[in-house]
Amino acid sequence: MAQLVKELRHHDRLYYVEARPEISDKEYDALFRELRDLEAAHPGLVLADSPTQRVGAPLPEGVGFAVVEHAVPMLSIDSLFSAEEVRDFEARILRFLSLSDADLDWVVEPKFDGVSLSVIYEKGRFVRAVTRGDGERGEDVSANARTIRNLPMMLETGHRPAPQLLEVRGEVLMARDLFERFNAARAARGDERFANARNATAGAMRRNDPAEVARYPLEFHLWAMPRCEGVRFATQQEATRALREWGFADSGYGRVVRGLDACLAYHDDIEARRDEVPFEMDGVVAKLDRFDLRERLGTTSRSTRWQYAHKFAAREVSATLRAIETMVGNGGRLTPRAHVLPVEVGGITVRHATLHNADYVAELGLAIGDRVYLRRAGDVIPQILGVAKAAAGDEPADWAASLPEELAAATARNDGAVAHHWREVWRVPAGCPACGNAPVAEGKYWRCPNPMCEPQRIGRALVLVGQGAFEIEGLGEKQLAQLYAAGLMQGAADVFALDQTPEMRARLLALDRWGAKSVDNLYAELAARRTVPLARFLVALAIPDVGPSTARVLAAHFTSFEALAHASEAELMHVDGVGPEVAAKIVRWLRDPQLSATATRLLELGVVIEAPAARVTEGPFAGQTVVFTGTLEHMGRAEAKQRVEEMGGHVASSVSAKTSILVVGGKPGSKAKKAEELGVRVMLEEEFLKLAGRE
Ligand SMILES: [Zn+2]
Repeated sequence: MAQLVKELRHHDRLYYVEARPEISDKEYDALFRELRDLEAAHPGLVLADSPTQRVGAPLPEGVGFAVVEHAVPMLSIDSLFSAEEVRDFEARILRFLSLSDADLDWVVEPKFDGVSLSVIYEKGRFVRAVTRGDGERGEDVSANARTIRNLPMMLETGHRPAPQLLEVRGEVLMARDLFERFNAARAARGDERFANARNATAGAMRRNDPAEVARYPLEFHLWAMPRCEGVRFATQQEATRALREWGFADSGYGRVVRGLDACLAYHDDIEARRDEVPFEMDGVVAKLDRFDLRERLGTTSRSTRWQYAHKFAAREVSATLRAIETMVGNGGRLTPRAHVLPVEVGGITVRHATLHNADYVAELGLAIGDRVYLRRAGDVIPQILGVAKAAAGDEPADWAASLPEELAAATARNDGAVAHHWREVWRVPAGCPACGNAPVAEGKYWRCPNPMCEPQRIGRALVLVGQGAFEIEGLGEKQLAQLYAAGLMQGAADVFALDQTPEMRARLLALDRWGAKSVDNLYAELAARRTVPLARFLVALAIPDVGPSTARVLAAHFTSFEALAHASEAELMHVDGVGPEVAAKIVRWLRDPQLSATATRLLELGVVIEAPAARVTEGPFAGQTVVFTGTLEHMGRAEAKQRVEEMGGHVASSVSAKTSILVVGGKPGSKAKKAEELGVRVMLEEEFLKLAGRE
């Protein structure tokens, strides 16, 4: 077991710290399972540093994190914004140290935008992780920190022995690409997206359940070592080398440079490569390499004198707000979207920006024609931060001509959907831009209440052709919008009308971008998908809150669509995992003739719900637990079991109080005796074969 733990930790290190795995994920999983099984068999021998021990129990409800005092305060770093300020900073240091030689060694590294953490080890073993908090006191988030896979639980001691006590500080981060994937997966599950990796990381570290935290792709990158008992280091370089040997990771972007010009050059270089670095950052940190100089400089009450943060220029620009368009989402939500006159931000031409919701627009007090501040972070759609200069005076002469073409068409169709006149203030339109129905408030958002509104119809059709439902790859949002617009579809179910008549084929072929080949492919898909299990059929209906997992339990419970369609709220609540709210939504949907028409229409169009294995409720074996003993002469054990199960029974391997029938073959053993004692019905092979329909 100790050997397995050692091996797994070795692979953890290769994978998470050095990013050069030697074995496949599958091989790793096999080792991990082997260890877990061994540990389950010998719970007394589980090692504290076992990789299986990273995920602990959740905090009991209502219990917060313990507050812990920092032995060495976590002070902030002075932020500087220009080369000028950086030179002044150095001049002050040199004066203080009465040095005339400006060629000091500096450790420079990116200032990552994550969550700072102080981690403590005693005799080489992880004991605690504490957040920055107010710098004096932070929260004990040890259970959550344990789930960070590249944070050592035990120091590696191959190169140097572990110190009595070690405190390491670093940043908990999520790589941008992993964050994007993580966020997309959340959105797919219907959870709210995080605005950025930093918010997601901070949210993760504050969760009560380590099992949840373990799902976040968190990493720890060291930046300081405030305490290391019994070992003295002269410089940061030496300390960092030791930390690496003990198994800690750093970003790999840090350098040691000589002189301030090199610090400034490093700043400019990293800023220019900002998008290549996998983590979000907002500047670089430079700190004196020599610890003796640091000691002489000391600290002020709130910051250290021997390091500074040189911030990057904010990626903010100002632009003219040309229009605000009201968009209708596939869920029916109305959201304002800003159009600005084209502007370059970080090498990209920006034309649109998000405005979140109506409250946000009101808060900023926006009017069309205002100069607004825009910020672009990573690849996210730019955001409007505020007004730089309000629109004033008369309308500029070229105002009307500056309206983007895409909007000209939209305003011609429905002028109320777009605010674009000089100094106009955008409001939630009185009618949904897509269908004209009056929107209703839903929390911070406005929603079109009409389920037949086009974006919502497209949204439901997307569910019908999507994952877990019919999975028809030839139909995406573009195609569905096109089919609705051309009148080939009225409702989502009409996807299955597309291959029903020669006339429909001709209409498809007449559409843009549809050739004989794409129509044939679509037809082949429709033919192949026409028969579905009940669970997929239910997902396809886009009933609110009925995703794949709820659909599966509903299908298992009701076994037919008919039975579900007639179920009451009370009956629905008998289903595992269906609460009153979901039950009410399902019933409302089923009783709404317009919505439930999708199901009827699908069946009309030849969709077949695969019959689930019928639950047999009558016959000799229905509901019975059957045990076989001895050798059956005329039927194999596997076949006998299958027959019983087909006839609604259950086969067990040993006789107990739950046994209903014992079937005795050639040489009955001890089971027959036990059955007699329990008063179980005993059946000879002959009788069994007769009941099982084989003589
Ligand atoms: Zn609408």
